[in-house]
Amino acid sequence: MQVVRARIAAAALAAGRAPSGITVLAVSKTFSAVEVRTAYAAGQSEFGENYLQEALEKMNALADLPLVWHFIGALQSNKTRIIAEHFDWVHTVARANIAQRLAQARPAGRAPLDVCLQVNLGAEPSKSGVTPEGLRPLAEAVRALPQLRLRGLMAIPEPGGDFALQRRRFASLRLLLEQLNDAGFGLDTLSMGMSQDLEAAVMEGATIVRIGTAIFGERKKS
Ligand SMILES: *Cc1c(COP(=O)(O)O)cnc(C)c1O
Repeated sequence: MQVVRARIAAAALAAGRAPSGITVLAVSKTFSAVEVRTAYAAGQSEFGENYLQEALEKMNALADLPLVWHFIGALQSNKTRIIAEHFDWVHTVARANIAQRLAQARPAGRAPLDVCLQVNLGAEPSKSGVTPEGLRPLAEAVRALPQLRLRGLMAIPEPGGDFALQRRRFASLRLLLEQLNDAGFGLDTLSMGMSQDLEAAVMEGATIVRIGTAIFGERKKS
């Protein structure tokens, strides 16, 4: 945790940004509730999960803690109800009909669900995410749903590459956010950067970095 915070602080300094503008989302998939509790004791309160059943078990075991839960996994329409009932954020919305299902299932007494749209930056057919061309209509559809609060954009660029290439990929997501904001969307979130490339993401304006391995260690292969 300290190592990650130091990396972010150094990247923020290099970018002329305040480290307080960057939220660390601890990606706890495959790690236990006990490990999440330990991270909380070290000052971490926002956690990202990819697998619903696993996440629900941890939420249950940790219900005594004031944690903020982010869903960052693949969205299937038969899972939208449970996600809308249990999570605070969803980072992976890429289709209008999934957004509508999340909105319909958001319990009336709760704050709107915070949403990022996942963008498929390379428009690769095998990858999830809305294409850059499809982004504007999707953003308009999500903005029209009062049970959702459209916060920004998320991407998972291909891993690897040198620092300059990593920065170019993240810059393209920032550019898409700026275009939406020029059109009046008022978005404040760029969810980008993982353990391997968080410095490049911070340089390009990430406001949430999603960090698993660098906090919890290597995941076991499943
Ligand atoms: C697993 C995962 C992460 C964390 O990746 P690390 O390389 O372990 O930091 C971040 N974002 C998403 C969407 C993930 O699935």
